[in-house]
Amino acid sequence: MKEFLDELLLQRMERTAAALEKNRMEAHLVATKEEVVPLIRSLLAPGDVVSVGGSVTLDECGVLELLRCGDYQFLDRYAPGLTADEIGEVYRKSFFADAYLCSSNAVTENGELYNVDGNANRVAAMTFGPKKVILVVGVNKIVPDLAAAERRVQEIAAPANAKRLSCKTPCAATGKCADCAGDGRICCTAVIHRQQRVPGRIKVILVGEPLGY
Ligand code: SF4
Repeated sequence: MKEFLDELLLQRMERTAAALEKNRMEAHLVATKEEVVPLIRSLLAPGDVVSVGGSVTLDECGVLELLRCGDYQFLDRYAPGLTADEIGEVYRKSFFADAYLCSSNAVTENGELYNVDGNANRVAAMTFGPKKVILVVGVNKIVPDLAAAERRVQEIAAPANAKRLSCKTPCAATGKCADCAGDGRICCTAVIHRQQRVPGRIKVILVGEPLGY
């Protein structure tokens, strides 16, 4: 029986990939997370300046290890001992990177990306600056439309990330959004990417297994 579910998920991925391409984003489909690193290697050139947005998905796929292998100039926001000012500098330098890698909180079957940030450094770099943006997205993040994307962030992505980052927010404590207004709010800026001005600048790797939140 599992083959029918697998077929359904594949159809959802193919539908989403076609819609992304229509919106002038490059779509790649892979079945497993083990296929992500070889694919990203093929999308980067040796010596590229690369940077990342905060992402559990990248970690799960081994992308951070790839970026630290010495083949690239990695602007590593996680380097030990960085001060808050130095991390802020990495965020700003990322606008000039050859490639920016992260995930997306949700991708709709209409080919839209929906993302919510606390600092907005990730959504800013996704939107403008780096020459290419490579997103790794598990099949669990594909949703039918923007309303479902917003719900997904409020009910899953934001509370799970707030717990991971030990934020002092209601959702970190209860797992439920309470529309808070404190300094630690994790969902300050919401950005929708629709049709892209530069074709292929954003490349979306859809992975046929659940990844991240
Ligand atoms: S508004 Fe506050 S409680 Fe709701 S998801 Fe965002 S950070 Fe969590």
